[in-house]
Amino acid sequence: MSTAVAPSAPHAAARREALAARIATVPRLRLAMLPTPLEPASRLSAALGGPEILIKRDDMTGLAFGGNKTRQLEFIFADLQARGCDTLVAGAYTQSNWCRQMTAAACKLGLGVSLVLVHGEKGPKLQGNLLLDRLMGASVDIVDIDSMEKLQPHLDAKAETLRAEGKKPYIVGPFVANTLELGAIGYVQCAIELDEQFEAQGIAPSHLYVCGANMTPAGLALGFKALGRDIRVVGITPIQWREDRATDIARIAGFAQKRLGLDVGLGTEDFDSDDGYIGPRYGVVTPGCLEALRLAASKEGLILDPVYTGKAMAGLIDHVRSGRLRGAGPVVFLHTGGLPALFAYAEDLGLE
Ligand SMILES: *Cc1c(COP(=O)(O)O)cnc(C)c1O
Repeated sequence: MSTAVAPSAPHAAARREALAARIATVPRLRLAMLPTPLEPASRLSAALGGPEILIKRDDMTGLAFGGNKTRQLEFIFADLQARGCDTLVAGAYTQSNWCRQMTAAACKLGLGVSLVLVHGEKGPKLQGNLLLDRLMGASVDIVDIDSMEKLQPHLDAKAETLRAEGKKPYIVGPFVANTLELGAIGYVQCAIELDEQFEAQGIAPSHLYVCGANMTPAGLALGFKALGRDIRVVGITPIQWREDRATDIARIAGFAQKRLGLDVGLGTEDFDSDDGYIGPRYGVVTPGCLEALRLAASKEGLILDPVYTGKAMAGLIDHVRSGRLRGAGPVVFLHTGGLPALFAYAEDLGLE
């Protein structure tokens, strides 16, 4: 009954099993290569003179260069198939990792793909994610609109055209609650995987840093809370939204909690959301991001991306330097992928 004793392994295993059983109630397709490695980055840790850093390699999940979307798509594509749809209609920016991984999943499953992509920072340049979308045979329309909120009518119109051709489209827009909830469940599953890895490696990390806009930090923080795992999720945001990120993340976790029938919920006090590393705007490389890209590459041979993980690592580096992590246990950095975009940003990397 001593409170000083850590939860015993059988207890932790039982909690994981109970949570996995909740997840098993949600239809899922296997698309990801799991578990992804959790590897030490000791030369990076030493260079920063900070806590031990471990990298969770979700850039290795598979689907045309991997990334965090692959776990999320296992649930989203199961929903697509359950509805009998045969064509994916999706949209985001031209360098969208989300659209690239969805296109890869659709190809693997023999579905049609129609993308409506917003011009964004890198426009129609045939590089990185856009190049891969085209290579995989997606039909691509590029629209030059000034806000993601204006994208939905374009997706609806595309779906209407496809319906008139006898297709059954499935729309994944930027603001669809069902997608958000299923995507978060992908990261509740990742929390179980990490909990197992921590136990197997005999470590108890104090923090997990992740570049998160919504589903990824929501699922992770909810999953760890449901497991009783004491680790602080710190989401570094890549984009300034109109709504406060923490409120949105807690709400998305609420959708997932309800769908899984969990008795623990997530409040904004259960995780950190830091929007201090975005720079001028989404998709623009900052000096901190550039330093992070170079440091991870030169110390570990670890490649980060310029839009998401580079900024999240810039946040972690700054938190180490400013003393925020003094005395912290090991810190996990979840690599969410995004690698193809690096090639579209070649001229921003200061290497020429
Ligand atoms: C989409 C994306 C994110 C953000 O994921 P959310 O689930 O929206 O929080 C982070 N990193 C990369 C590389 C991404 O592509």
